[in-house]
Formats: sequence, structure tokens, C-alpha cells
Amino acid sequence: MTRQTAPQPVGCEIPATTGAYGFGVLGATLDVYRGIRPDLHCSVRRCAGSLPLPGAGTVRRITPTEEPVRVPWVVEAVLKIGVGDSVAARPASDHTSGYVRVVGASIEEVERRMREAQRVHRRARRADRRATDRFSARHHPRLPLPTTGVHGVRRLHPLFAVLAVLLTVAAAPPDRAAPPDRAAAADPTRTPGTPSYSVDLRSDATGAHWRGHERIAFSNASPEPLNEVYLRLWDNFRGGCATPSVRVTDLHVGQGAQDRGLQDGGVQDRGAQGTPGATPDRYEVACTALRVPLPRPLPQAASGTVEFDLTVDVPDGIDRFGRDGAFSFVGNALPVLAVRDGTGWHLDPYSELGESFFGLSSDFAVTLDHPTDLLVPATGTAVDTPGEPGRTVTRIGARNVREFAWAAGPFSRIAGRSAGGVRISVYSVTDITPKDAQAMLDLSLRTIDDHAAHYGPYPYGDLATVLDNRFDFAGMEYPAFVLDRVRPSAVIHELAHQWWYGIVGDDQYRAPWLDESFAEYSMAVAMGDTGEGCTARTPWQSADERLTGPMSYWDTHPDRYVPVIYDRGSCALHELRRLIGPDTMTTLLHDYARAHWYGVSTTADFKAAAQAATSVDLTPFWREHRID
Ligand SMILES: [Zn+2]
Repeated sequence: MTRQTAPQPVGCEIPATTGAYGFGVLGATLDVYRGIRPDLHCSVRRCAGSLPLPGAGTVRRITPTEEPVRVPWVVEAVLKIGVGDSVAARPASDHTSGYVRVVGASIEEVERRMREAQRVHRRARRADRRATDRFSARHHPRLPLPTTGVHGVRRLHPLFAVLAVLLTVAAAPPDRAAPPDRAAAADPTRTPGTPSYSVDLRSDATGAHWRGHERIAFSNASPEPLNEVYLRLWDNFRGGCATPSVRVTDLHVGQGAQDRGLQDGGVQDRGAQGTPGATPDRYEVACTALRVPLPRPLPQAASGTVEFDLTVDVPDGIDRFGRDGAFSFVGNALPVLAVRDGTGWHLDPYSELGESFFGLSSDFAVTLDHPTDLLVPATGTAVDTPGEPGRTVTRIGARNVREFAWAAGPFSRIAGRSAGGVRISVYSVTDITPKDAQAMLDLSLRTIDDHAAHYGPYPYGDLATVLDNRFDFAGMEYPAFVLDRVRPSAVIHELAHQWWYGIVGDDQYRAPWLDESFAEYSMAVAMGDTGEGCTARTPWQSADERLTGPMSYWDTHPDRYVPVIYDRGSCALHELRRLIGPDTMTTLLHDYARAHWYGVSTTADFKAAAQAATSVDLTPFWREHRID
């Protein structure tokens, strides 16, 4: 994900004496609770049901599905919050400059801090503008650029043009042999292995409600028997057990020869009819995990299947799983297998701040039956065939991906092919201009080849970029599918995630730096930013902070997530490049990606790879940058 700001916790369990107040600037979209100011609307996330809200001396109730509206000057929104009130607002703006955390402060103190933060923000904006002007003058942004897309030469927005120049001149490493297929990434330490998902879903007229069937085949990669598997129903974080967004019913477990599945000793579990609440003993982690016991222990290399009927209801609220009017974004909705390794099952909670998702490379065959007037950009390569009158059946295949995401809506679509042969489609919601969509396509085409030159060939052939400027994040990554605002840095960052998290997997909950710091560094490299002086700009603020800290830490220190994991993390990689030399760094990252292609990497793996690449003793470096 790309976050330029650190969202504050929004939830039902904010300590009574702590208020976390966000604010935006002119024209920003801010999620604010209704009731703080009567003319403001809110988007309450993570809360199941309603939330008692203090405001002007009364308790108001709100629902979690209201959409944010644009407000002219959001600072006013906090002025009626009293000392000791517990409420959080989540700014959703690119231009949000910062946050003020208030613990028992007076209203006057809140106002003072807000004014100070605004001053800081205005200074930063002025400095940004000056830097941009200097930068533009140096790089001749009006230089016409050839495009590699199917749309011929077009005039680019100056900012895109600058980036395109940088991407064009970025030094690429020499070609190397193609990376391995998944067979080379066989991993007996993590199971269930070789997951294969077959999914058939049919939507209603809106594309927000899907019904169908999912079948998962897997094997036990581990020498330790498998007694159960877990399905992750990540998107139940939105409604919890009370109103789950993802429902699994009529669950069947097969075991034995894969083809015989249900016939060979399989059991049928029909106890999961209805909502997850119907079988509370099986649901864990706020109904985001469903335990599926196997009839008998599954030995190493033996296979099993789980299949079930599935419903997915995309809620209102613009998010990676949510709706923006007629457009639905369906990230993390398909139930996927949790991972078991030497530390046990990974059953971490959902993180709204970043990602909790941890999956092994899998194959997906997904059929989406939808109204023909809705497009369904998705992970993978799609083929459309006519369905019932007025409907289209889109069959999508994706190999070696960790998850599958899609969207549905009356998108505008443009497409192109990169010089390296990657087909990229850009899907835009209604108010994205054709010029912006084209600029993002051109940038995506250059970026995918640029990243591929550094980290290995992009293996998926196709990629979909979905644009909506109302996302409250700058961008969100899925395999071969990204959500973005019209924001160059975001698309470069998300495309870097195709390698860091996608191709080279990691446990995003326990070591988010392995994907976010690397994606941010890759973005900086693509944009010609060398991170000069970055260590001084990103000081540690407490002894507890570690670059290798897990999401459980950042979810309780959300204002430090971006400064440490994004800024400090990419800075550490810049410093490593300076320490071991640029050529060694280039080779290190390329070879590290190859070594973990379609597999999973850990901090220990990266440290070992880095140390093996240089004669410089990196012990002091790891210590300084708190990479444990
Ligand atoms: Zn990211």
C-alpha cells in the first residue's frame, strides 16, 4: 500500500482519554464523524455496528456505511470535541499534512497544535513547490516523449514527463537468465502447499453482490501432518461476526486422491449454514478465520480439498474492499488458505493501517458472470464470452499469485503494451480525465519494464491499474492488479510491489518492511531519488521502534508507521547502497528476488543475502537501522 500519511486508529475501542484528530487542507476529503459538525458526513471504518459518539454534549449514533464528502476546511471539525472525548477522524487526502494526538488536552491546546501543524504543512508545501520548480527546470519536462503504448505519441502532463524521463534514463542492470518457476520454490517449511483455487461467481446487477462456489485444492508440504486448515475471510473485518461480508456455507472437506476428493473418505460439514455466527466455535479472529478440521491427519505430499458456497457483499465506503457509487472494489474477498510454518498457524488480525495478508503462491481459475455493462478488471489474464442476455462471462486465469482481487463497474478502459511485452489496462472511474488515465498508462508501461530490468522479468503478462481519486490511500497492491489515485509516485510504488510482496513473498503482518520499504526504495530508484541525507530526516523516536517491527506494533503506533516503515526503511536501503556500492546493491536485489521467486523471504534471508554480497561487515549497519 502507499500511504503518505499515517491514518489514525478508527474504531470502537479508543481509550477514553485519548483522541486522535486528523485534519485536511482545502479540498481534502476527510472522514469525519457525523455529529462533530452537523454538515459533515463520516465514514466509519472497522467498527461493527454503531458507535457511541460524544459531540456537543450528546451521544450520537452512526452507521459504518456513510461515505465521506468533501469539506472545505476540516480543522473546524475538531473544535467541538471536548477533553477526554474519544473519537478518531481519518483524513483521506493526499494533502493531509499531519496529525495531532491529544491526551487530555484542552480545546485551546488542540487548536494551537492544529494551527502549528498547519503552519508546518504550509511551509512544507512551499518547499515542495520550490523543489519541483528547480527539478522541472533541470529536466526539461516539455521534451516530447515517445510512448510505448498503442496510443502513439501524446503530450504528457509535465510531472509525468519528468518521471518518464527519469525512468527512461534509469540505469538498468544487464539481462540475466529467466527466474525459476514455482517448482524451484518448493518450501517444506510452509504449508498447505501448491494451493489451487477454482471459483465461480455470479453478480447481481450492481456488481456489488456475488454468489457462487469456491473449491480449494492443496497438499501438505510439511513433514508434520496437517490436522486442519484455516480459511482467511479477511473482509469480515468490516462487519465482524454480526454482519459478515463474506459468507461460507455448505462446506465440504475432501481428503485423499485429489480427483476423488469427496468420495474418498471425505466428510461433509453442513454445520456452517447461514452466517458465521452459526458456528462460532469454528470462527476465530473476529470471524476473519475459519477453522476447517480434516477428517484424519494429512501426511506430507498428500492432498486435500475444501469447497463451499460463497457469498460476497461489498459494503458501501470507498476502500480496497468497498464501493464508490457504481464501482465496487473487491480486494481480499475470496477465502484463502492461512499459512502454517515452524511457528504455527499465522492467524493475525486484519490491519487497516497496512496489510496482514500472508499467502503462498497459488493458481486461480475464476469465472465472473456479470452484467455486460460492467467491466471486471482482475488479477490475471481474462477472456470474455457472452452469457445470458445482457450478461458476460469473464474467465480469468492467474498462476503463481498470492491472492486474487477484482473490481466491477462501468469503468472507462484504455490499454497498451510495454516495450517488454506487458499488457497493461487502465480502468478509470467516472471523474478521471482521459488525459490523466493516459498519463498513468504511459507511466505504468515504462515503470513495469524499468522494475523488471532491475528485479527480474514481470511474469504475469497482464496488469490492471484501477484509478479512483477518492481512495483514502494513495495506492493498494494485488498481484497483477493495483488500485491507485492519479499519482505518479503511487503507481510506481504499487508496481514495485509486484516484486516485493507479490513475486517475492513475505509475511506482511510480521515484517512489513520487507515489502513496504523495498517498494518505497524501488520507487525512489525509479524516480532518481538517491535518499541523500535521509537518515537525519528520519530519526528514531523511541527505543521500541524497530525497522523490522510487526503490524501489531504499528497498529498501536500508527503515526510512526509511515515515517519508519516507508521513510526510514527506504532510507536504510539507500544507505546500504552507499555502503556496499551501487553495482553490488543492484546485483544483490536482483539475485535476492531470483532466490525467492514465488517463494517467501524473511528478514534473516535478506540479511544473509546482503552480507554474502559484500566484504563489508554489515553488523553495525543492521544495528544502526534496527534490522533484527
Ligand atoms: Zn506499499
